[in-house]
Amino acid sequence: EDTVARIAAGEVVERPASAVKELVENSLDAGAESVDVTVEEGGTELIRVADDGRGMTEADVRAAVRQHTTSKIEGLEDLESGVGTLGFRGEALHTIGSVSRLTIRSRPRDGDDAGTELVFEGGDVVSVEPTGCPEGTIVEVADLFYNTPARRKFLKTTATEFAHVNRVVTRYALANPDVAVSLTHDGREVFATTGQGDLQAALLSVYGREVASSMIPVEADGDDLPPGPLESASGLVSHPETNRSSREYVATYVNGRAVTSDAIREGIMGAYGTQLGSDRYPFVVCFLDVPGDAVDVNVHPRKREVRFDDDDAVRRQVDAAVERALLDHGL
Ligand code: ADP
Ligand code: MG
Repeated sequence: EDTVARIAAGEVVERPASAVKELVENSLDAGAESVDVTVEEGGTELIRVADDGRGMTEADVRAAVRQHTTSKIEGLEDLESGVGTLGFRGEALHTIGSVSRLTIRSRPRDGDDAGTELVFEGGDVVSVEPTGCPEGTIVEVADLFYNTPARRKFLKTTATEFAHVNRVVTRYALANPDVAVSLTHDGREVFATTGQGDLQAALLSVYGREVASSMIPVEADGDDLPPGPLESASGLVSHPETNRSSREYVATYVNGRAVTSDAIREGIMGAYGTQLGSDRYPFVVCFLDVPGDAVDVNVHPRKREVRFDDDDAVRRQVDAAVERALLDHGL
């Protein structure tokens, strides 16, 4: 692949965490019940995502690394109705594979097909061979940015890159308590959810007892909310006493998708009001439902940022929902 394509890829895949995000989304899209993420050196040396999803035939695997191939868009309607599945542009694997050494091993669920192993390096298919492997898919990304030294140079320390990876995997683990999600870094298991619990159980696996046991439930819909597009809000917010110092502990989901939104964040912070010290952000997991046409998810296709037609109304609604939950607990 030419230099221009590689530079473009570098813009899209900013760091190991961006690749992890795409791979985990693919696993969830494939209906996985378990997703195991393993990284080495913060993901700069190796990222492996193994799932037990529907898997791929040899033809599927070959197609998966081609540019602009997706099995997920049927037509214009799908694009407009806003992304039933998580990924929708059909180029994540191709893009990641053009700036790394990518290996895909996959075997379809309930088929007679053997598995297939495809090796893709710097944008070219190096080999495709039958292989024995479990049903599902294992994607390995080694030596990210090996062929884009400038981009590689911008990677931060292992600890920082891993922190980004951790946040991404955590977000998906909490959003999908019915999927067993695990994260392992340099041979050490960081967390593993069981896939059999609710949000509270997933929180316990990911963050431990102190945070999980003090969370306050938020549950508001319809008449509970001031006017605006928000149909319902549910989730858990931290007791002010366990508030932590990083705003990154705020995980918000709109219509099931992990997103960020200034309106939502401001609504949450507003509800805590003066209980919020300048460096004590709350710990929040919040699921919001809005009609598809009230939210713009395409502010930037690769970022998780969303805007609403009426950001102000959403801010007021979120503020009200969280404030009510805190008040119910005498706070
Ligand atoms: P997109 O997800 O936008 O379709 P990707 O480049 O991420 O594009 O993936 C290309 C295609 O490869 C997907 O549409 C899907 O058919 C297939 N694929 C990727 N990862 C998996 C996986 N873990 N399990 C099954 N199929 C997968
Ligand atoms: Mg994808």
